[in-house]
Amino acid sequence: MLNIENLHANVGDKEILKGLTLEVGAGEVHAIMGPNGSGKSTLGYVLAGREGYEATSGSVTFDGKDLLALEPHERAAAGFFLGLQYPVEIPGVSNLNFLRTALNAQRKLRGEPDVSAADFMRLARTEADAFDLTMDHMKRGVNVGFSGGEKKRNEMVQMALLAPKFAVLDETDSGLDIDALKTVAGGINRLRSPERGFLLITHYQRLLDYVKPDKVHVLSGGRIVRSGGPELAHALEREGYGELAA
Ligand code: ADP
Ligand code: MG
Ligand code: MG
Repeated sequence: MLNIENLHANVGDKEILKGLTLEVGAGEVHAIMGPNGSGKSTLGYVLAGREGYEATSGSVTFDGKDLLALEPHERAAAGFFLGLQYPVEIPGVSNLNFLRTALNAQRKLRGEPDVSAADFMRLARTEADAFDLTMDHMKRGVNVGFSGGEKKRNEMVQMALLAPKFAVLDETDSGLDIDALKTVAGGINRLRSPERGFLLITHYQRLLDYVKPDKVHVLSGGRIVRSGGPELAHALEREGYGELAA
């Protein structure tokens, strides 16, 4: 589903990704761990097509398409989703409007009809509820005045509403209390399906207690230096990155 080959990428004129190779099959959940500054968020941004994060060589095939050749909105319409490490506040744009506009814009690019206002409201209520947000959160400006945990859960509401084929979740578990962590993990597990893949960027083994990954990778110095099963996350928790990421 997602096939990254020897990807090099720059932020400004600094090379951050230095030959990253990673393949995630449909239905799989992979976790990426790694020291601060190793390029995890950069990987998410390069995949999503954020301005200023430029792939300089290598390839990314997503669901049979050349992902890097697509505009960011085309990547989203093709089913690629990035849950941000630091969700942004958008004052003046209500969460509901933002989500409905994003959903219908993606559907339009896929040649699908708009979701009716009534269906959208039902969906929004269901997903807000699933991630312990209220309709008040949905009516407020996007993330405006949300707590850290609410922002992370709002990323999950976005993901659930847009129902992507592939989601990269960048430290969605950071800063969550144990109840919120279980809520987020439950959401990921509910959306897990044979047609959908996930890449979970995380610093903590604890998320992986609730969302069992098929594979765990260590990203260090801009490339994957180690891959294994769930036991690798336990080893990292015990031993730190020192040896394993060297
Ligand atoms: P991680 O998510 O693994 O902690 P990042 O991908 O955020 O790491 O950052 C990797 C490296 O790229 C860091 O050295 C960081 O300072 C640098 N970097 C990321 N974004 C920018 C930016 N917009 N401008 C300059 N340097 C950046
Ligand atoms: Mg970091
Ligand atoms: Mg990061």
